[in-house]
Amino acid sequence: MSDLPHLVPVAVHAPVHSGLGDLLSYASAAPLPPGTLVRVPLGAREVLGVVWDGAAPPPAAGVEIRPIAGVLEGLAPLDAHWRRLVAFTARYYQRSLGEVALAALPPQLRTLSTEQIARRLRRSTPAPEASAETIENVVLSAEQESARAQIVSEPGPFLLFGSTGSGKTEVYLRCVQEALAAAPDAQALVMVPEINLTPQLEERFRARFAPRFGAAAVVALHSGMTHAQRLASWLAAHAGRARIVLGTRMAVFASLPGLRLIVVDEEHDPSYKQQEGARYSARDLALWRGRAQGAKVILGSATPSLESWHASRPATPEDPAGGRYLRLHMPSRIGAGALPRVRRVDMNQQPRRSVLSPPLLAAIAERVARGEQSMILLNRRGYAPVLHCADCDWKSDCPHCSAHQVFHKLDRTLRCHHCGTTQRVPRACPACGSLDIVPIGRGTEQLEEQLAELLAPVLRPDGTPARIVRIDADSTRAKGALQSQLAQVHAGEVDVLVGTQMIAKGHDFRRITLVAAVQPDGALFSSDFRAPERLFALLMQAAGRAGRDAAYMAAQGTPCEMWVQTSHPRHPVFEALKRHDYPAFAAQQLQERAAAGLPPFSFQALVRADARTQDVAQGFLRAASEAAQALPELAQVTLYPPVPLAIQRVANVERAQMLLESQHRTALQRFLAAWQPLLHATRAEPAHKGLIRWLIDVDPLAI
Ligand code: ADP
Ligand code: ZN
Ligand code: ZN
Repeated sequence: MSDLPHLVPVAVHAPVHSGLGDLLSYASAAPLPPGTLVRVPLGAREVLGVVWDGAAPPPAAGVEIRPIAGVLEGLAPLDAHWRRLVAFTARYYQRSLGEVALAALPPQLRTLSTEQIARRLRRSTPAPEASAETIENVVLSAEQESARAQIVSEPGPFLLFGSTGSGKTEVYLRCVQEALAAAPDAQALVMVPEINLTPQLEERFRARFAPRFGAAAVVALHSGMTHAQRLASWLAAHAGRARIVLGTRMAVFASLPGLRLIVVDEEHDPSYKQQEGARYSARDLALWRGRAQGAKVILGSATPSLESWHASRPATPEDPAGGRYLRLHMPSRIGAGALPRVRRVDMNQQPRRSVLSPPLLAAIAERVARGEQSMILLNRRGYAPVLHCADCDWKSDCPHCSAHQVFHKLDRTLRCHHCGTTQRVPRACPACGSLDIVPIGRGTEQLEEQLAELLAPVLRPDGTPARIVRIDADSTRAKGALQSQLAQVHAGEVDVLVGTQMIAKGHDFRRITLVAAVQPDGALFSSDFRAPERLFALLMQAAGRAGRDAAYMAAQGTPCEMWVQTSHPRHPVFEALKRHDYPAFAAQQLQERAAAGLPPFSFQALVRADARTQDVAQGFLRAASEAAQALPELAQVTLYPPVPLAIQRVANVERAQMLLESQHRTALQRFLAAWQPLLHATRAEPAHKGLIRWLIDVDPLAI
């Protein structure tokens, strides 16, 4: 038994199934305040831990209390706000406290020695002197000014509903500026879905704030950074040296003692939802954190999630309370720029199998001839989604997944986009030897190839041929490739840009005058009830890339256009797109959701089980469901039968899931909390032990 006088509770990342509780007790020579970062022995290892609140749990009989191995000197304890956020996240998303706490810290804190961290701390230089103030002299538009004024005077949270190009970013910049001016230690957190897609944003924040607060005042926090960079950013935020943290979803857990403002840009974007471990929504946590820490929260989007739209509904006589958020509307584009005219091409009326309908091709050719840029969106990479034998009906199925292998012509491979299995394209059908194997359907590679052919006769104003660039996950694999491709577009070295949804997001392209979506119909008939919402957001975002520079458009003298090739031109998604009418689209969707009792009118969770066979996976879920019947908390929750996932086998693992639904968030939460121990117990039964991996996904985005 250790003779150290103090017993402290420490959150460590113990394996979920280890049977260890959330907190372990350790002995210490001195009392340690909650939030202190420590190194502690765990089994044969030494791991990072966070001293937690409350009393140390009593040790189990016969268990020796081990001493803390060391304290990370020089680091202020993580504050109560941070600890409460972590505790809430663990509880709400049904994970262990230690797992969430440790995952929220930069990886190097876990691996570097105490001395190494102390050295890093010493190395970071006081912030450089602020140079002369060069804050841009942008005069806000009337809509921007009204939004800014309300954000300053009201408590929020706010939903900034602003058209693409309405100047939302400028409003964020202004609100950050005011938040930071309020106190010398004030901090702001600005979150974006995927930072590498919006390098310009970081530039804008640096340009605006580095002159005033010094170059060290703006730091980034995202998974594209090295571990060393992440640690440096994290330390700067924790110590208060960084005034602005610009990051992706992980940044919601940054230690920000002076937090005054949180911005969640493109709040509808699914990448705010973490898809492993604690499956948190960074947007939802931002709202929780803002309320708990007294920071204002701005959610911004041209196409808000239906959850946020509903939560910001104005009060009416029938609904006098209205929503919890304040909706701020900025319908106009900056500089009186117009949103593109939307043109639907009815593909039923076009020659069969045409990739680009003749009128769309003519429109693109015209833009090329005038020296303008076009952008073509096809949300499927590779050359063709499947290779097919005309003689025996063989298809390029992945041997490990219930999915096709995609044909990539450039490197002559068949690749599974789910498990990554790659093989050479066969010369002849592997089943019957026929040479008649052909690609079916099309992806971005093929579109790029066909465009090059179709546009060959078209010349730019200077007599040179059109330049086509493709941007997708394949073309941007090399480090820096995306940046250089985007730079080419910005520099006007590209006439036609072809790509997946990567090109639709957030880019402030100045000379694109035509945007086309060539194959959007797939999403209209998906089994996922959120598919239309996602498609509409994608198309609105894509449309938002056209005609962003009003002065350029005026000089060109032609209106900008958004083309949609569809076999269902009258579908409500396209009708609403034509009018740029998000509110009408949202109203229609919300009506359907209300009738079907779907979110935001209900709350959902999924339990997923992975196993060697569907039988085993579903058997576990059925057993867990039976165990749940004994719980009184089930009363307000509907538990649906197990079903296979849409893609039921990936990398030889069979996947099944079970949906839970309730009218009340708290009822669902209470049920999950009561059920979790039964899930652990069910998995430990001989029938399931060692055969199952399972997880809970609260507020899942894909059903
Ligand atoms: P959003 O984020 O809503 O798509 P941005 O903030 O990127 O829009 O603004 C679109 C363009 O308009 C940007 O190039 C931005 O610099 C410019 N801009 C924004 N606000 C103003 C303003 N008040 N005056 C002049 N230009 C502005
Ligand atoms: Zn064949
Ligand atoms: Zn596969």
